[in-house]
Amino acid sequence: MEVIKKQTGAAFTLKKGQKLKVLDPLGEQVSDMVLFNAQDTREKISSGKTLDFEENILITKGNFLWSNRSRKMMEILEDTNGRNDFLLAPCSPETFQIMYNNPEYHPSCFENLYTNLEKFNIQPDDVPTAFNIFMNVQFAADGKLRVDPPLSKAGDYLLFQAQMDLIVALTACSAEDSNNGSFKPIHYEILD
Ligand SMILES: [Zn+2]
Repeated sequence: MEVIKKQTGAAFTLKKGQKLKVLDPLGEQVSDMVLFNAQDTREKISSGKTLDFEENILITKGNFLWSNRSRKMMEILEDTNGRNDFLLAPCSPETFQIMYNNPEYHPSCFENLYTNLEKFNIQPDDVPTAFNIFMNVQFAADGKLRVDPPLSKAGDYLLFQAQMDLIVALTACSAEDSNNGSFKPIHYEILD
């Protein structure tokens, strides 16, 4: 099991057919995940295509994660928590300036994604909306969004299976509101 320390990230390759387990070791910790086709990084995970083809806002066990070229990138084989978000962008330096009124430097998923993806020649502007594992976004009938503490308990995990050769980037999210005010690690494991 690999450890992503609090407020950091990681990026690695995953072969077609391999499985990826993403685990919340302590509970109430979000992990943002983005995916790229390892052979052509212009193909990447798409929130819009996934919500479209899966016909649901809530993506969980049995659903696929789709690319901007309308191809399956991952299948979700298991999800012990069941609540993930695919609406909101990764938290970024501007998130903390605009939504938290904090002008100081603040770690963010966006920075942790693009700095780890640099070794694959992926630029900051290439980072798409992330699949926000364990993120608990609630929505009212009028469309109003609210970010609540994650429902994940210690040991909750998702198991994904790659549908093509992938570059994967993962974070342990740095936004106070998304993680019930504290920052914790995320664990992951690649399984053949
Ligand atoms: Zn974040």
